[in-house]
Amino acid sequence: MLSESQRHTIDQHVQQWIHQMSQEIPELIQQIQTDTKSSRFDLVTNVDRTIESRFEQFLKTHYPDHHLYGEEAHHETHHLREGHTWLIDPIDGTANLVKQQDDFCMIIGYFFDGEPQLSYIYDYPRQKLYRAVKGSGAFLNDIRMQPVTPQSLKDKIISFNNRVLNDETMHALLDASFGYRLIGACGLDSARVMTGQFGAHIHTNAKPWDIAAQFLFAQELGLKMTDFEQQPIDFVHGGPFIISNPGCYETILDILLSNGGYQK
Ligand code: NAP
Ligand code: CA
Ligand code: CA
Repeated sequence: MLSESQRHTIDQHVQQWIHQMSQEIPELIQQIQTDTKSSRFDLVTNVDRTIESRFEQFLKTHYPDHHLYGEEAHHETHHLREGHTWLIDPIDGTANLVKQQDDFCMIIGYFFDGEPQLSYIYDYPRQKLYRAVKGSGAFLNDIRMQPVTPQSLKDKIISFNNRVLNDETMHALLDASFGYRLIGACGLDSARVMTGQFGAHIHTNAKPWDIAAQFLFAQELGLKMTDFEQQPIDFVHGGPFIISNPGCYETILDILLSNGGYQK
C-alpha cells in the first residue's frame, strides 16, 4: 500500500520537477532539431528526447527502485505491474510542436502495483498543469476540477483522428454530435473532455504513454474510459481508447461499432 502522505510527497516532488523542466523548455525549443522515425510524418525532436532523459535522471537520483516506461527510450515492460511504475510521453503532439509551436503537452502517469496514483498533463504553451491525486481529486493549476455533468452527444463537441474512421462511421458521428474539433495531441484532446468542453475523445490505437494520465482523471472526474467493447484498458498495452462524458459514451460506441468502421 502507498500511504496518502507518501503519495503527497511524491506529488510535490514531481510538480517541482515539472516546474524546473518548464524553465528549460524555451531554450530546448529555440535549438530544436527534428528527425523522422518510421515515416516523414513520424517526428521526434531533441525536446522529446531531453525531457525523457531528464525524467529518467530524476527517478534514478531520487527513486532508484521505480520503473520507467517512456515513448522515446524506455521500452522494457517487465515488472511494470509490480511496485512503482512511471509512464511518460515527454512531448505529446510533436507534429504540433514542430509545425505550430503550440498545442503540445507532457503526459506522466504513476502507478503502484498496477493502480494509478498520480497523473499529470502539462500544457506547456498555456502553462496549464492538469493533476490528479488518487482519492483527492483533480486540479487545474491547483484549482479543483469539478466532476463532469452528464450531457448528450447532440449537445457536445467530440474529437477523433479522421484518418482512421471509415466515411460512414465518421459522418454518423458528425451527424449525431454538436460538432467536431481535433487538437492533435491525445493528452490535450483528453483534457478537453476532463474539463467538460468536449463530450469525448477517441483514439483507435493509443500507446500506453498517450493515455497514462487519463485513467486517474477519469476515476476522479466521473468520466468513462474504456476500449470500444466497454472493457478496461490495460495500461501496459494501450489499444483502442475512448474517454467520454457519461452522457455521450454509449451513443458514440453504438455508432462506432454498428458501422464497423475504424482502423488501428
Ligand atoms: P499527429 O498529429 O502526428 O498526432 C496526433 C496524436 O496521435 C498525438 O497524440 C500523437 O502522439 C499520436 N500519434 C502520432 N503518431 C501515432 C501513431 N502512429 N499511432 C498512434 N498515435 C499516434 O497525428 P496525425 O498526423 O494525424 O497522424 C500520424 C499517424 O498517427 C498516422 O499514421 C495516423 O493514422 C496515426 N494516428 C492514429 C490515431 C488513431 O486513432 N488510430 C490517432 C492519431 C494518429 P505523439 O505526438 O506523441 O506522437
Ligand atoms: Ca503521444
Ligand atoms: Ca510523444
